[in-house]
Amino acid sequence: MHDNAILRIVKIMQPTLNDSYVINRHKYLLYNKYFATIMYSMRYTIKDFRRDFPNDDVCLDTVFKERYGDIDTCPSCGVIGTHFYRVKGRKCYACEWCGYQLHPLAETIFHKSSTPLTSWFYAIYLFSVSKNGVAAKELERHLGVTYKTAHLMARQIRSLMAQADGGLSGTVEADETYIGGHRRSTARWENKSPVLGVVERGGEVRAKVTIGANASTALPFLRNNVEKDGFIMTDDSKVYHRLKREYGHDVINHSEKKYGRGIVYTNTIEGFWSQMKRSIDGTYHAVSPKYLQLYVNEFVFRYNLRGVVVYPALLERASKPVESIL
Ligand SMILES: [Zn+2]
Repeated sequence: MHDNAILRIVKIMQPTLNDSYVINRHKYLLYNKYFATIMYSMRYTIKDFRRDFPNDDVCLDTVFKERYGDIDTCPSCGVIGTHFYRVKGRKCYACEWCGYQLHPLAETIFHKSSTPLTSWFYAIYLFSVSKNGVAAKELERHLGVTYKTAHLMARQIRSLMAQADGGLSGTVEADETYIGGHRRSTARWENKSPVLGVVERGGEVRAKVTIGANASTALPFLRNNVEKDGFIMTDDSKVYHRLKREYGHDVINHSEKKYGRGIVYTNTIEGFWSQMKRSIDGTYHAVSPKYLQLYVNEFVFRYNLRGVVVYPALLERASKPVESIL
């Protein structure tokens, strides 16, 4: 397997002390270089899912362990070596010495939801195995919930896939694209939302919906995401004219675009755009500009975890308070 891919897996999936058994099992498989290749042929199937998460209690235990780890010191009475037991009939755990309660679902996407945890876990599972996204209609059908509930759940799950900033280095490709709008619109770019993107070859992608694709939006976006020593490939669009002042920069002109010129090409980021657009068109049809960033994040998340079992990564984020997902 490619060294970059291993590094990427190690970075994202490095096991932590807070990991539950379920998460740990997957992470250790990923973390170990010898097992890394196995992961490519191994998938987390619906059979695995049914075995690992048969009921709401197991799901709640998973969120608890994911959030608090093997907690053995009570934050209230300070007893070391205490045990937190499940409070019967309630979604919380209590210290065996003082009764102090921990609520693992508080401030997570599951907070105050009347939908069973197994349905939530299944919805997250569907997002994790899908290549093209999951429409609310599909969730409605699979879970037997109302469209309104399905729609809200989908939005919450999508919020788990927020992007981090920065961290790209080496040779990167930057490009802009336009998404949405009415097909019959007279002007080509009318009603379309510009999206800026940059990808590290063999690494991660970042993409951001913007108010206009021009030098004054593209430069801050690239500064935010690409290390100073990064070398940026772009097309000959005016958007990137000022880049040379800050970065190594090479340009592919329009006539060379199809095949590139040696290492000068932008096919990686263009491939990402076309995959994302196909998915948005096919699964979500029209996306309002207001929510477009959430959909873009979803495809960025999938791209960055390509070749990796996505489910544990999503569960880990789902077990965190919404404010601290990244
Ligand atoms: Zn206590």
